[in-house]
Amino acid sequence: MELVIDHLSKTYPNGTKALNSVSLRIAPGMFGLLGPNGAGKSSLMRTISTLQEANSGTIQLGDINVLQEPERVRQVLGYLPQEFGVYPKVTASELLEHFAVLKGISHKGERRQVVDALLHQTNLWEARNKNLGGYSGGMKQRFGIAQALLGNPKLIIVDEPTAGLDPTERNRFHNLLAEIGEDRIVILSTHIVSDVSDLCRQFAIINKGRVLYTGDPLVAIEEMRGQIWRRSVAKAELAQYQQQFSVISSRLFAGQTIIHVHSLAQPGNGFESVEPTLEDVYFARIHTAEKVATALAKG
Ligand code: ADP
Repeated sequence: MELVIDHLSKTYPNGTKALNSVSLRIAPGMFGLLGPNGAGKSSLMRTISTLQEANSGTIQLGDINVLQEPERVRQVLGYLPQEFGVYPKVTASELLEHFAVLKGISHKGERRQVVDALLHQTNLWEARNKNLGGYSGGMKQRFGIAQALLGNPKLIIVDEPTAGLDPTERNRFHNLLAEIGEDRIVILSTHIVSDVSDLCRQFAIINKGRVLYTGDPLVAIEEMRGQIWRRSVAKAELAQYQQQFSVISSRLFAGQTIIHVHSLAQPGNGFESVEPTLEDVYFARIHTAEKVATALAKG
């Protein structure tokens, strides 16, 4: 089953154009939707999840016309929204059971079996009788995945799931996602580049409602080879470098400011070529798009 998004646009009533002719083709496996805050990721996730309508364009999931047949989508969809509220005074076991009833798993024995299996799979079995109010951020997110997996969905959407998780919990959550992404479409929306480089064989970069790139992260990195240059600069020189070069990132390392520049040719003295990372790809694509937009605006 493939998810095909074609020229999807969404403008909110206040005039914000959140999605601008988005086209994507998503095969089974983990798909990373990478973009800064405000890029339009949640708008796209909510539209695919049938929680809001689009202005134009189409979304096809296998033989389901998503925008025309929301009921059919909901039968095969698992969704973990950005803000996943839980009832604090209920246990994981009880709430999952309740969600299972809502999902239409009406046979009690079957429901128990499904709920227990999911609690095991998400590593919450030991904590199943604890109130959700006492869960850590990571445990809540794993509970969110458990509820999203009810009914064995073909499409799972997780919106910014690792924000706020500590490194151990993030790692554990990544392993869980990798496991569930083996035989269905899992769309992971994130602004964290390593979420995508750790997990996804397909990804897209989205900014200001537009898709800037889509493909395989390894290919995207390969395409940038020979175009990323590094040097350390004095803090006071940074602004000048930013004017003169396409500085895609600057960070402190051992007290020095290290800049990465995107350039097809050697930018000059003091720059050394570096192996690109997905982070370089991401920043370079966004930087280029911003430059083009500024040039167009200036006429
Ligand atoms: P992301 O998930 O990538 O942070 P969003 O889809 O939440 O991006 O937002 C995209 C743009 O649409 C932003 O400019 C945001 O302020 C705006 N936006 C999101 N939801 C609404 C809404 N309900 N009404 C008006 N503007 C919105």
